[in-house]
Amino acid sequence: MLLPNPPTPSVQSDVSSEVETTSKRSHEEEDMNGVSEEQPVSKRSLNEKNIGCNVPSTSHQIYCDIDLSNLVADPGLRKQISSYHPNDRDLVRRAYLLKGPCQPKDHQFPQKMMRGKLRKFVKDWFDDFKGWLEYSIEKDAVFCLYCFLFRREQGMQGGGKTFTETGYNNWERKSNLQVHVGGVNSAHNKAYMMAQDLLNQNQHIESVIIKQSDRARSEYRVHLIAVTDVIRFLLHQGLAFRGHDESETSSNRGNFLELLEYTADHNETIKTILQNASENLKLTSPDIQKDMVNACAVETMIVILKDLGNALFAILIDEARDVSIKEQMVVVLRYVDKSGCVIERFFGVVHVNDTSAISLKKAIEEFFSKHGLSITRLRGQGYDGASNMRGEFNGLKALILNDNKSAFYVHCFAHQLQLALVAVAKNQEDIALLFNIVSNVVNIVGASCKRRDALREKNALRVMEAFGKGEIQSGRGLLQETGLKRSGDTRWGSHYGTLLSLICMFPSVIDVLEDIAEEGRNSEQRGEASALMDQMQSFTFIFSMYLMKEILGITNDLSKSLQREDQDIVNAMALVEVCKTRLQTMRDSGWDLFLTEVSLTCAKYSVQVPKMEDKFVARGRSRRGVGEVTNLHYYCYKLFYGCIDWQTQELGNRFNETATELLLCMVCLDPRDSFIAFDKTKLIRFAEFYPADFSPIELMVLGDQLETYIMDVRANIKSSELNGLNGLARKLVETRKHIVYPLVYLLITLALTLPVATASVERAFSAMNIVKNRLRNRMGDQFMNDSLITYIEKDIFDGIDNESIIQRFQKMGPRRGQL
Ligand SMILES: [Zn+2]
Repeated sequence: MLLPNPPTPSVQSDVSSEVETTSKRSHEEEDMNGVSEEQPVSKRSLNEKNIGCNVPSTSHQIYCDIDLSNLVADPGLRKQISSYHPNDRDLVRRAYLLKGPCQPKDHQFPQKMMRGKLRKFVKDWFDDFKGWLEYSIEKDAVFCLYCFLFRREQGMQGGGKTFTETGYNNWERKSNLQVHVGGVNSAHNKAYMMAQDLLNQNQHIESVIIKQSDRARSEYRVHLIAVTDVIRFLLHQGLAFRGHDESETSSNRGNFLELLEYTADHNETIKTILQNASENLKLTSPDIQKDMVNACAVETMIVILKDLGNALFAILIDEARDVSIKEQMVVVLRYVDKSGCVIERFFGVVHVNDTSAISLKKAIEEFFSKHGLSITRLRGQGYDGASNMRGEFNGLKALILNDNKSAFYVHCFAHQLQLALVAVAKNQEDIALLFNIVSNVVNIVGASCKRRDALREKNALRVMEAFGKGEIQSGRGLLQETGLKRSGDTRWGSHYGTLLSLICMFPSVIDVLEDIAEEGRNSEQRGEASALMDQMQSFTFIFSMYLMKEILGITNDLSKSLQREDQDIVNAMALVEVCKTRLQTMRDSGWDLFLTEVSLTCAKYSVQVPKMEDKFVARGRSRRGVGEVTNLHYYCYKLFYGCIDWQTQELGNRFNETATELLLCMVCLDPRDSFIAFDKTKLIRFAEFYPADFSPIELMVLGDQLETYIMDVRANIKSSELNGLNGLARKLVETRKHIVYPLVYLLITLALTLPVATASVERAFSAMNIVKNRLRNRMGDQFMNDSLITYIEKDIFDGIDNESIIQRFQKMGPRRGQL
């Protein structure tokens, strides 16, 4: 641990210079290019290396920005190693080696005519040449990872540039791959040896020179684990790492340093090690933190990708504009895991420079390529329609559908529904005003604890009174509302709850406002409270409040069902129809009843009800502004019919034809009531939506399989014990029937993959805001992405042991300490 500070040779030259002496020294330029033996210790060569930063350097070196976590994966697209600065090359090589060869196993490899026969890449070759064979989706050709990373100019041996730059695509001749590997001293095998050396820490000159004692090693490990624990804690809680002032004298040096110190204060061993660590071995630099966080995120991603396996998936995309006004896409994957459960996982934040559909598509492709996924595996797409990038997302959706017809766009219905409500509010100023007032009331009443207590007290009394008069039935959910709910910005479903509370507690709320108006802290507050009180006690307000309560009430079950994580589409489709019918009924015959209810409420609170046949006078306007419109026209036609029609129209538009057909076919998989919905013809129609998954022959097999399947499950699975389609999938896996009926099971997984609910996207978003607010503007894209993955996918992150993290951290760059 207590390393002397010898004139460390540049780390970047270690492997290459050492290895090069054994291979042909044919690229002097690499050594001459600034990395000579006498070169002063560059900052890069220290443990605390800087990635992606311009390191002020005394020498003439120029470090370009390389984002090691985001290296291009597709071998047909990436930059040649020689195009990196010599000092960066080993970092890049190491990153690629850690990533492993690019093997998109589940890509649909295109066929091409070769000497009269259709041929394509055979994915089994990945297994035959596991360590090195790489496939480029872009070029439809294979490459060699080791040769790409380490090959020198060696003429045509091993295929020249075929496996490093141009790519090999003669699918008739697999034998050439074996030829490429060659004998012990082949170019390929030499490259392989160099790769092993690079990954083997002991080969580093640094390590060789500084033989670390066993004690130093074990101290390093303790030190590293202490730092890892601190980092894990911060990630887990979504806390900021750094403080504003991290100097020794600062009273608050930021969470990371403070927590590390706290740990040391409670553990003598760690304390001694930390105190004894020399300045550049403290493992506290921001770059060490970044690497460590990245190691955590990468390990988490590995688990997620492993769980995804070769499942088909859907993507859910939403935009996020962070404080620094960068456009970001949040990507969530939805798939059915091996036990038959629907999983939605936060997959990362993609930063885009411009928001044209083409750039978005490119960003998605790069993102997929980075994780070894292929767009051919997509079976669904969903976007947050409420976002600013709505138009661009439409373009992106179309571009993806061009590539893959089965990437169905079944919109996140929950968001659609919210959008519809936003549209209603935007269309009607009285409705907009209603929500504005409500949110002000919630703010002013909910502002302090004291006031909330006052509300509870008064409400309790009111509820007691109400019981006496028999107005409220007990046992209803409303009674449990003990405080006014705060409604989220865009989560309109929650407005329903708020309106319910407000209606239920209307008199108490007015009382509390009155209190504030009289005894508020300052005149501003008193004024606001009294203005709100005024606005609330008007016919228009009460009318709008009840109208929105009715409309939101009708769509509430649908909205809730769409947002539930275990939501199944069958219910959703049924609810859409129910909503449409209920809205129609309300329009046809609901007006009189509605007006009576509003009028009674007004009478109860002594609010004047205008005569419907009088001319309408808009609030706050002078009498001169009285138009030709009657109150009946305004309240009934404009507000009542207007809002209902708008909502009906939005529902119709958003649940469109393809989506509906797809979903209605899917309904036939519903296991309820002994699979009563089962319809073989429709299910085959459903399979036809996925030509990549069902060949014409398989469609015929599917027909037979469906008949046996339905007899089997009707006889042997109690559908009443299943929780929808979701439960059916799990049950089939449990009883191993998914192996017996692979095509039927595939159909079920496809149905479950469609992104109908978006619970996770919202989850990712609120998490993103938590993390971002705390970390403010000071996080780079990668750091934020890493923090988010570990924060949102905690359940996975928590299961990863420290050892995997420190091993990865150790391999990510040359480290001074050895494990
Ligand atoms: Zn090779």
